[in-house]
Parts: sequence; C-alpha cells; structure tokens
Amino acid sequence: METETTGLDYLIVGQGLAGSILAYLLIREGKKINIIDSPEFPSSSRVAAGIYNPVTGRKLVKTWLADELFPHLEVFYTELEQVLDAKFLHPVPIYRPFPNKEVQTYFKSDKVSADFYDFATVEFENIRYKDLVNSTLGGVTTKHSGWLDLKVMLEAFRKYFQEKGVFIAEKFNPEKALSATCTTIFCEGFQAVNNPFFNYLPFSPVKGEVLDISIEGIELSEIINQGAFVVPLSANTFRLGATYSWHELDFAPTQKAKEELIEKYHKLMKPAISVTAHQAGVRPATKDRRPLIGMHPEFQQIGIFNGLGSKGVALAPYFAEQFVDFLVNGKELSPEVNINRFASLYLRVGNS
Ligand SMILES: Cc1cc2nc3c(=O)[nH]c(=O)nc-3n(C[C@H](O)[C@H](O)[C@H](O)COP(=O)(O)OP(=O)(O)OC[C@H]3O[C@@H](n4cnc5c(N)ncnc54)[C@H](O)[C@@H]3O)c2cc1C
Repeated sequence: METETTGLDYLIVGQGLAGSILAYLLIREGKKINIIDSPEFPSSSRVAAGIYNPVTGRKLVKTWLADELFPHLEVFYTELEQVLDAKFLHPVPIYRPFPNKEVQTYFKSDKVSADFYDFATVEFENIRYKDLVNSTLGGVTTKHSGWLDLKVMLEAFRKYFQEKGVFIAEKFNPEKALSATCTTIFCEGFQAVNNPFFNYLPFSPVKGEVLDISIEGIELSEIINQGAFVVPLSANTFRLGATYSWHELDFAPTQKAKEELIEKYHKLMKPAISVTAHQAGVRPATKDRRPLIGMHPEFQQIGIFNGLGSKGVALAPYFAEQFVDFLVNGKELSPEVNINRFASLYLRVGNS
C-alpha cells in the first residue's frame, strides 16, 4: 500500500523504543507526524529486559554520559507514564555481588573514583542475600537504576498513537522516502542494515536471548547482576539474561543460549528455577558503541535515529530530545552521535 505523506511534517518508520519516543516528542512540539510499524518485523525493544544502570563493566565505572543521562531519566519516564496512563517504570537498585576477592579488594582500595559513589554504595559483608546469592563477599548496590517494562510502554504508546490517528500498521519500503512530501526518519532498529540509505553505516548488531523463569518462595525486589541478571517481573516471575552473539543474527531462540543462561544463573544464585519463556532479539549496536543520529549526507529529507545498542532505555530520551531540538530548532547534534562522522564511508562505497 502507498503511504500517504501529504500534510505531514514527519513520517517515523518503526515503533520500537526509538521511534515511539521520537514521535511522541515531535507531537509535543506540535508537529504533524505519522508513525508506521510493520507487524512483519520483530522489535528488539519487546525482548529487552529494559534495565537502566549507571555503572557497568568489571570495575563498575560510570557509563558514558551518566551525569547527563541519569538524573533526567526517571523524571522523563514518570511523566510519560502519566501521559500514556500506564505503569512501566520500576526504579529499583541493582545488587552486584563481588565475584571474587580480587574485585572486593579493588573496591576496598582508593582506586575507586570518588564520583562513583554518586551512583552506588558498597558493602563488604553479604547480609541481605545470603540465602539467595552464591557470594559472601559483599557487593555494590546502584542508585538511579531500575528497569522499564518495554512491552507495556510500547503497547501504551501504540494506543496513544492510534487514538491520535497517526499510527499505520504496515511495512514501509525505504525507497518511498525519496518521493515523500515530508521528512522521513528511520527508526528501524536492526533492520537498518537492509536500508539502502543507511547500510553504509558501521552497525555491529548483537543477538541476545533472555529467559523468563519462575522461582518459588523468594522475596526479591532488587535486580541481581553478576555475569547474568535476574530482574523481578512479578511475584515468582523473573527475567534472566542475557547472551551476546555476533553470529546468526535472527530472532530465533537457541538451546545453546538457554543452557548458557541457566549455567550462569546457577553460578550466581542458589534457588531452583523453572523456565517459562524464551525469547531472542538483535540489539542495534554500532562499531564505535555510539548512536547513529542525523540526516542522510545526500538526501536531506531522510534521517535516522538508531544505534541504541544495549542501552536504549538510558539513551533514547536524551538523544531523542537532542534530535528534536536539531530538527525543530536547528540546534547542533553532538558530534559523537551525528552520522556525519561517517560521511567518508558513504563516499567510499561509491554512493555519490
Ligand atoms: C536480549 C536483549 C536484551 C536487552 N536488554 C536491554 C536492557 O536491559 N536495557 C536496555 O536499555 N536495552 C536492552 N536491549 C537493547 C534494546 O532492545 C535496544 O536498545 C532498543 O530496544 C532498540 O530500539 P529500536 O526502536 O531502535 O529498535 P526496535 O525495538 O527493534 O524497533 C524497530 C521497529 O522498526 C520496525 N521496522 C523496521 N523496519 C521497518 C519497515 N521497513 N517498515 C515498518 N516498520 C519497520 C520493526 O517492526 C520494529 O518495531 C536488549 C536487547 C536484547 C535483544
């Protein structure tokens, strides 16, 4: 079917996390938009655990732009809950038990930067979780962290867009962006690798799998994370994740990943589990681990908002706001995320 763009300011392609937030902010700016999403393509947002976490890595350093992203994050999603009349934000600490003495010693030393404590507290005796976790060395508990129920949020967004009459359930042929009478912004997640306008960009997609598990008789409101994460979804139900694979980039769950996750779980936690669901998705990650945002080097009416990788929940609000400021007010995009950092790749593959 031909997508009608007359009278629109923007056509947003993809109603995952990226497209939904961008479309919402453009509507808030008074722009006329349509948002189109294909039931044919899977969405990694619907598989994601939705965790936002200001400290990462073995030494738990602050994540990129933590000071800018995190103070605003919960305010943004709380306001969104009110607008969409749905509950999806779950601000909870993440408990990261020390895996060994070496890591514990590091956290006892003065090598840990002072500003790390803006985002976390440290304890050296494991008191709270001694019946659940296979570590008695203590650990780090993060602040300003939690998880977003992305399925609930995306369904609420869909209802919101449908009620405004701006949602189209259809596959969009990227070539049609050339004849559209409005600006088209592609928010296709992993599918962008097949988009003829943006397949020159250095995507590095990563497949990930998660299990939903049932654990009887435990009370856990925090996320536990060490090697694997265990997120409390509801009474007795938890999400266990996640795997990372740069091969077989599809949405098919595999036995290998299931076994890997169960093994990691038993390293981390004591109680027995039963698996109730198994899902796979592909993270739209990039080679330089930074988002891909901006306008096409040749066709200025075609843009992209993508490359959120494994941190979409934390990155999407901040960079969607920045992109809207660029689109509506002409304010510059951060050079670290602007796709014009790869303009030479576009010329090299002979597009121009
Ligand atoms: C296993 C796993 C665990 C994860 N855990 C976390 C986590 O804990 N925290 C976190 O922040 N992130 C996590 N992520 C990453 C997160 O999923 C992504 O950062 C984010 O969801 C990407 O959103 P997106 O909108 O760019 O892509 P998607 O959610 O994939 O959305 C793209 C949408 O575009 C549509 N589309 C594509 N092409 C077309 C077309 N031609 N026409 C119409 N529609 C089209 C698709 O149908 C889809 O709905 C995880 C990912 C995986 C796979």
